[in-house]
Amino acid sequence: MNFYTRLINREHPLPEGYIPEHLIDIGIPFDAVPGDPKRLLEVKTARAAHNLITQSRREGLNLYGISGYRSFQRQKELYTGSPYVAAPGTSEHQSGLALDLSCPQIGMELTDEFASTPEGIWLSRNASLYGFILRYPKNKEQITQVPYEPWHIRYVTKPLAAYLALTGMTLEEFHCLRESKAEIR
Ligand SMILES: [Zn+2]
Repeated sequence: MNFYTRLINREHPLPEGYIPEHLIDIGIPFDAVPGDPKRLLEVKTARAAHNLITQSRREGLNLYGISGYRSFQRQKELYTGSPYVAAPGTSEHQSGLALDLSCPQIGMELTDEFASTPEGIWLSRNASLYGFILRYPKNKEQITQVPYEPWHIRYVTKPLAAYLALTGMTLEEFHCLRESKAEIR
């Protein structure tokens, strides 16, 4: 399985000591001080995020990075048992492939209101062009086991992002389909 398309969730956690090989600063407006590991992403993901943010800024939008990479240890400290906080090893942020975004209009918060801001609307329409998906969509909570998160994008490469955007499938559904096809073969 390709690193970029892998499924990371409760049933498919990352190994405890897992650290992405090549993490770099995203180089985008970020609601965290320079040097904060939150500003890091896996290198291809970082480049894609940089392109996405640059284009959105050209179009007059104010997207800000809120949270990128998060270590297993940090996730352990944050874990409260709430459905909004993934258990250590099950957060996509540990892979360096996920990024949370927000905007000043909602005070840089990660809330459902983000979906109805110009930034949130733009993101949902354009993320796939840069290889990202909205990983936890509305009405798919039963499948992803995660509440709706309009602010969380996950890099999966452009071909898969386009496929998922067209079919409306989540990453869980895509992997389930692949497995059932493999069984038929
Ligand atoms: Zn997130």
